[in-house]
Amino acid sequence: GGDGGAPAPAGEADGFEDAPSIDVRLVGRAGLHARPSTWLVEVASRYRSEIRVRHGGRTANAKALASLLKLGVEAGETIRIVARGPDAEAALEALREAVEGGLGEQEEAEEARAAAPAWRPESNGRALAGVPASPGLAIGPLWRFQAARIVVDDRPEGEPAEEARRLEAALEAAREQLETLHDEVEARAGKSEAMIFRAHQALLADEDLRGEVRVAVAAGHGAAWAWQRAVDARVAEVATVADPRLAGRAADLRDVGQRVLRLLAGEERGAPRFPGHPVILVADDLTPSDTARLDPARVLGLCTAGGGPTSHTAIIARSLDLPAVVGAGPAALDVADDRPCILDGTAGRLYLEPSAADLASARRFQAELRGERDRAMETRFRPALLRDGHRVEVAANIARPGEAAEAVEAGAEGVGLMRTEFLFLGRDAAPTEDEQVAALTEMTRALAGLPLIVRTLDIGGDKAVPYLSMPAEDNPFLGVRGIRLCLRRPELFVPQLRAIYRASVTGPLLIMFPMVSTLEELREAKETAERVRLEVGVAPVPIGIMVEVPSAVVMAEELAREVDFFSVGTNDLTQYVLAIDRMHPALAAQVDGLHPAVLRMIDLTVRAADAAGKWVGVCGGIAGDPAGALALTGLGVRELSMSLPSIPPVKALLRGVTLAQARAFAKRALACATAGEVRALPMP
Ligand code: PEP
Ligand code: MG
Repeated sequence: GGDGGAPAPAGEADGFEDAPSIDVRLVGRAGLHARPSTWLVEVASRYRSEIRVRHGGRTANAKALASLLKLGVEAGETIRIVARGPDAEAALEALREAVEGGLGEQEEAEEARAAAPAWRPESNGRALAGVPASPGLAIGPLWRFQAARIVVDDRPEGEPAEEARRLEAALEAAREQLETLHDEVEARAGKSEAMIFRAHQALLADEDLRGEVRVAVAAGHGAAWAWQRAVDARVAEVATVADPRLAGRAADLRDVGQRVLRLLAGEERGAPRFPGHPVILVADDLTPSDTARLDPARVLGLCTAGGGPTSHTAIIARSLDLPAVVGAGPAALDVADDRPCILDGTAGRLYLEPSAADLASARRFQAELRGERDRAMETRFRPALLRDGHRVEVAANIARPGEAAEAVEAGAEGVGLMRTEFLFLGRDAAPTEDEQVAALTEMTRALAGLPLIVRTLDIGGDKAVPYLSMPAEDNPFLGVRGIRLCLRRPELFVPQLRAIYRASVTGPLLIMFPMVSTLEELREAKETAERVRLEVGVAPVPIGIMVEVPSAVVMAEELAREVDFFSVGTNDLTQYVLAIDRMHPALAAQVDGLHPAVLRMIDLTVRAADAAGKWVGVCGGIAGDPAGALALTGLGVRELSMSLPSIPPVKALLRGVTLAQARAFAKRALACATAGEVRALPMP
């Protein structure tokens, strides 16, 4: 049925023929797998309308996770969403925003490529190559992990009523387990990593599935058997989707299925028995539940035969800080003796026959890495003073009020970029002026005197907000976004500026305008700000702009005379300089902010600012990348603003070099012909 089971073939009349529809393309690198689908279901479920998603000749219910998963939509593909009901238009707009916003999948992609130092073996014994999934080295014996798969017969333990009670109790217990797992993983690894367990809860809540099992139990079948049969049928359907990358979806269903079966059949069955010593765990694939339950004290690293870099094994391994290689192929499963092996999660290799010298050098390398990281954490509150005393400010990029306190705890010396648009996303109406004052004041309080750079609303491009009813554009990244939108929408801009000025009395606060491409825009924005400031009746605050459009670089001399500072947004600058959509699934790998074309643009910007006596910061992804931080420092950038985990290692890195070394590195980088050449430069 169209309500949650198999996607219906299109063409069949389903009553949606005249319903309003939108076509949207999935952005980012993920298709409609479990986490993005859960996000979509959550948005759809806020509306009363019936909503369908059509793709490849099939139709799924947007409120039923299992149904969506079976569509097998890949990254970059376009789906049609149709809605029928009282709030159909609003639902479609909200869904468009959710899909175009990446369904929670694309955060920090731009910062994820930080180059980790490499270890190389001297000998060339047998090795398996897979996909690097979580960096670092693990040394130890392999151990084959096999989660005993529970299979039950149709043997009811009691009357149908009793079986029905057992079923409901197991479903509720499974829901509670997932709630606990979610909270644990969220605390350890963050919201988006924990989403997978919300996805599992949604699979569990699938009324279609439950209904089918209840009917079977009422007809006299055992609860465990009926559940197993219904889940297996769904797994089989998902598994028929041709793309092997979609196998992960079947794994999620199987995982939830086994969780409930374990509860029905007794917890002892299916519990893995670990050896008494720490191991490198090899498995065919790991379910999210298996991975989350791993005891990091007993597991040195993970290697799976299947899976990809975005698999849950990879995500959770990173959150547990366990080196991991995925997709190493079935040969990984054949190895089983007690000889120590080396797993290199950075290079994606499993060395099966390391020499004694390799083991020794790997141990040294491991100890060095660990020492470096511990030192970086211990010294994170110290300033990033280069060896010759030159100072670079290291600040944080944040999006929520609560993150200000976390930034301070991570060692940030201020907030270099507060993305205020996040105060506007995921709601039905814009936040009021008072709400914005409260959010900003929470930040200045947490920062206790450290500077807060508030970027005014950067909506448009990839970030749409349904209640702003922005007309569709053919080229949104070249359209009404950032400051262009604000200048056209005083009803948004003025209250935001009022809130910023009101909050400015509670701590040092700077204003930054996004996406400025012409002098006229800057002047108009400054005039509006000044009018608002006089109305509010407070002292002036420094005003700067994001430099993220090539015209701003070329006109930097003129712009610099009329601002207090620049902050280079390398994420957008890279996209506009290279003419590559930063979200393009097929091209994303080439969008590297260390491309010499981008570095030369930054060089021009710094020179122009220097001439006008103004300072330059960088708040795009390369600020938090080791090679990027070094090159930018050498180019004369004074402030680097980055995501929180990058702060301690970048500060430590900068404290280890001289300005002359950084300048030499920058000079060589500017002279390179390709991004690859820059990435290959040796760091001091
Ligand atoms: C940038 O473009 O580099 C930037 C920091 O802004 P955002 O990523 O929010 O567009
Ligand atoms: Mg930007």
